[in-house]
Amino acid sequence: MSNIPLPAAPGAKEHVSLALVNSAVHLPGDKLADDLRSPEQATAWLIARGLVPEDTALLSYCQSQLTGLRRELRTVFQAQVDGERPDSVALDAINRALTRAPSARLLRHTPSQGFHRVMEDPVTQLVEHAMAIIAEDAADLLSGEDAGRLTRCGAAPCDRFLIRTHARRHWCSTRCGDRVRAARAYARKQEKRQEGVAAE
Ligand SMILES: [Zn+2]
Repeated sequence: MSNIPLPAAPGAKEHVSLALVNSAVHLPGDKLADDLRSPEQATAWLIARGLVPEDTALLSYCQSQLTGLRRELRTVFQAQVDGERPDSVALDAINRALTRAPSARLLRHTPSQGFHRVMEDPVTQLVEHAMAIIAEDAADLLSGEDAGRLTRCGAAPCDRFLIRTHARRHWCSTRCGDRVRAARAYARKQEKRQEGVAAE
């Protein structure tokens, strides 16, 4: 199994909420690849998506807020895929993230810059702002036309979500598709061998 990170699943570039859910993925061999496993990694993840300024440094409290939102989003995404009613606790958590956006960037004035808007918030507020953007994206995704194409990768143990680009797409990546095809070919071979043994 290669350690090269999986390419973004279809839809994850357009939907940051999908990217967040996919930031932890189960890999063959009982492994979990988690892009948010430390405050530093969570910071890098947010910076890479332009969700917090480059000089931000998340505290572990903020990291766990973000992974908490990821968990709630996963629950709600899974409900959508299964056609089930979403867990109300998870839905409430997403709505809290949605509405907790800091009210405004303040208006400042300096002789050199004139009027300008700044966010003079502590880190937690920066993270809350980022989480509001992610929750907003999830709300858009789940209530929009992409919702019906949201699916979960069919190549267990991979548990990434994707937006199906065509009706028959079941995998988040060619790597997952290849793994399933290889497993099927192996199973067919075993079956034939069994039949051969039975015929003797
Ligand atoms: Zn996959």
